[in-house]
Amino acid sequence: MPVDSRFAATDTDVIVVGAGFAGLYLAYRLSRAGYRLRVLEAAPDLGGTWYWNRYPGARVDVPSVDYMYSFDPDWQQDWQWSEKYATQPEILRYLHHVADKHDLRRHITCGTRVEQARWDEDNAVWHVCTGHDHDITARFLVMATGCLSVPKHVDIPGMERFAGEVYFTSRWPHDPVDFTGKRVAVIGTGSSGVQSIPMIARQAGRLVVFQRTPTFSVPAGNGPLPAQKLELLATDEAGYRQAARMSPAGVPMVRSQTPTFSVPAEERRQRYETDWEAGELLVLLNAFADVMSDREANEEFAEFIRGKIRAVVDDPQTASALCPTTYPVGSKRLCLDTGYYATYNLPYVRLVDVATDPIRGITETGIDTAAESFEFDALVFATGFDALTGALAAIDITGRDAVPLKDDWADGPATYLGLMTAGFPNLFLITGPGSPSVLSNMAVSIEQHVDWVVDCLTDLRTGGFEVIEPTKSAQTGWMRHVDDCAGMTLYACANSWYLGANVPGKPRVFMPYAGGVDFYRAACDEVVARDYLGFARSGSAGVRCNDGVVRRLQPDVQMLLEQMAAVGSPPLESMSADDARAFYALWRSALPPGPEVGEVVDGVLDGDGVELAYRLYRPPSTGPYPVVVYFHGGGCVLGDATTDDAFCRDLCARSDAIFISVDYRHAPENPFPAAVLDGMTAVRWAAANAAELGGDPGRLAVCGWSAGGNIAAAVCQIARDAGAPDIVGQALVTPATDYDFTRKSYSDNANGYGLTTSAVRWLFGHYAREADRTDPRLAPLYAESLAGLPPAVVVTAEFDPVRDEGDAYARALAAADVATEHIRARGHTHDSLTLVGFVLSGAPVRAEIADALGRFLAAERLAIH
Ligand SMILES: Cc1cc2nc3c(=O)[nH]c(=O)nc-3n(C[C@H](O)[C@H](O)[C@H](O)COP(=O)(O)OP(=O)(O)OC[C@H]3O[C@@H](n4cnc5c(N)ncnc54)[C@H](O)[C@@H]3O)c2cc1C
Repeated sequence: MPVDSRFAATDTDVIVVGAGFAGLYLAYRLSRAGYRLRVLEAAPDLGGTWYWNRYPGARVDVPSVDYMYSFDPDWQQDWQWSEKYATQPEILRYLHHVADKHDLRRHITCGTRVEQARWDEDNAVWHVCTGHDHDITARFLVMATGCLSVPKHVDIPGMERFAGEVYFTSRWPHDPVDFTGKRVAVIGTGSSGVQSIPMIARQAGRLVVFQRTPTFSVPAGNGPLPAQKLELLATDEAGYRQAARMSPAGVPMVRSQTPTFSVPAEERRQRYETDWEAGELLVLLNAFADVMSDREANEEFAEFIRGKIRAVVDDPQTASALCPTTYPVGSKRLCLDTGYYATYNLPYVRLVDVATDPIRGITETGIDTAAESFEFDALVFATGFDALTGALAAIDITGRDAVPLKDDWADGPATYLGLMTAGFPNLFLITGPGSPSVLSNMAVSIEQHVDWVVDCLTDLRTGGFEVIEPTKSAQTGWMRHVDDCAGMTLYACANSWYLGANVPGKPRVFMPYAGGVDFYRAACDEVVARDYLGFARSGSAGVRCNDGVVRRLQPDVQMLLEQMAAVGSPPLESMSADDARAFYALWRSALPPGPEVGEVVDGVLDGDGVELAYRLYRPPSTGPYPVVVYFHGGGCVLGDATTDDAFCRDLCARSDAIFISVDYRHAPENPFPAAVLDGMTAVRWAAANAAELGGDPGRLAVCGWSAGGNIAAAVCQIARDAGAPDIVGQALVTPATDYDFTRKSYSDNANGYGLTTSAVRWLFGHYAREADRTDPRLAPLYAESLAGLPPAVVVTAEFDPVRDEGDAYARALAAADVATEHIRARGHTHDSLTLVGFVLSGAPVRAEIADALGRFLAAERLAIH
């Protein structure tokens, strides 16, 4: 069933480059779907990673029953894994078994390296040249070239001089290597080093390990296949595999929602111990929700591992050198080992820390460091890979207008979904940069990619299209999303191969998708469901370009909205005001607590006979502090002094100011202008009592979120007109400023982003009358003049019904010569910035708000003192 083409005939429909895990599954799916295909493989045989990496100790680090194809449900009839973590020979045997069982070899040509691939625009074909000078044409080209298939070039001076044996873990000989009694050096302590060192030490007469950066490694606890997994597979394999596909990292598990420090210390320690004993990397990194996002949480876990290293390694100096301290655990690939640390207790094994004693060069007989000369019989390089892009960069690929891929990616790879790249039609990447790839169980990620690609080809065929390519804007949007996901993690804190930092001259870009296999899959599926959103297609059916960006929300905001949609809470406007208040208070009280502050005091302020409850947050430092009067959100109907607790803690801690959150009166019992009048009462009270509260009377600012932002803005105008109190700054977070429902943001963001347009109307209806609309105390934007107001920071959120009125107020302030900082929170919603423990992507915005407040308040301090 060849592709129906109006273009020139091709030698084959699809060329697949690489016959590893991915290439084999492509051969299976494409042949079953009726395509003509060729799989070209540089190695003399199939297997990819498991063909090349034959070093002693090479093993999988995801349990074998998880690291296998799921497309073959009757595997238990003809395949048995011998242990929890299979060795390289066993995995290679498995891949051969799959190839034979499904008759895949006939599609594969081994010993054939693809050197060049050129897109021929006129004929819509790829011309592929191999080392044998063949020019093969195909409509589609699929790169199954592997993320870790190109060894990193070793650039130690004198390499060529060494007269003894030289081995690379990634290109290990097929015949057994005998180190018995020999003096051996291992250079590198990443995954391959950690696995091979204990095995080499079993034979070597003397072993010296040269370490540049120590590695966090976890004992595999290898042995029989885990009984629990086997039972699950026996009872419901389909369910088990589906759970893996929908999991964060490709192994069935529920994404942890528990922040580390919400659990008592002893319970945390027990959890680390249990997971340590289980010996599963992906489980360990999921122990708590924030291990990979919170520095302190990560550091506690890191210290737990360091404790384990110190407990095993006898020599304190060696133990100390083996303990990583310069990067967060997990931000470089976590390793799985069998006896790695204990190997350093052997009297003939030594660690050389090249961070303190650098390698000067390789000599004829060994290695010279700054401090010593070593003699060796054999050198073993475990120096890693030019990861994720190395294999693609090694091929001369040119796309539309003869643009080389190397040039296009000069500043780092850019893809749409990690699957395709703009300007290179019909070129597919398996586990390309921008997909979960190396952060996941790759067996699951590979299957997902191959399924997507083959289904896409079938959809093209059915739809009468022959050419597909992502649009630039879809790609830019996706890469921004990839960045956003990485930005919420600690990955950028390490010089890792995830960032290309191990290869000199490689652009430093975090390449994998850190949002998780589950969210990634959802995005890929959504693109298809929305008629290939972000792709242009052409063929006999004509041209169809469905431009668009699939993920515009911040990743954690998206996750939260999806969770809330799944719970299905009733709309606010279907409730009475009392029920809505109870519902709102319950939801806000379920939010994770904010950071610790010095002190939290609840009180009642008495201002001119009006009593208002408040909650005061004092920083841990020594005062006197600036004072910020804070007005909570809730449309002047919902909420109280405590419902924005986490947000107030966060801003207090960041800005080193006292925050006083005020419980102003609410509608409908006390409609407009009660809330604004209470706001003024609170500000006057704070100014009068600042010194008593430990604050500095000359440094008073206001801050508010949502309706609270509206109150804060109105209070600044009233204080200006009254000439007191002196307010030195205002922070308005997603404020309502005129309730003009004709603004575009009310229709663009009417539904689906938390606060809905109909909820704003409902709140407004309780708070004010139409006749109040032009009163600047309700609509500060309508003030006759905004001149002379305190400096402002105005935050608007992209997906917020009230966005445009916040925008308008920021513009109007600036036009009135008020010093105004306008922060446009990309990918955020009306309330997401206040959800401190849930929405990590809000942290940079909150930092900007606190910085702005700090500047307003510091400027005043300079003026006063
Ligand atoms: C030592 C090691 C251990 C690993 N352990 C795990 C693990 O425990 N769990 C996990 O999920 N992942 C692991 N990985 C990642 C592993 O690479 C993937 O799991 C998986 O094997 C990748 O399959 P692939 O087919 O995409 O790529 P590969 O297996 O790398 O196959 C790519 C093939 O493409 C060929 N090729 C490349 N360029 C060309 C060209 N120009 N012309 C022709 N052929 C070409 C290569 O020769 C290679 O055979 C490990 C990787 C290594 C190196």
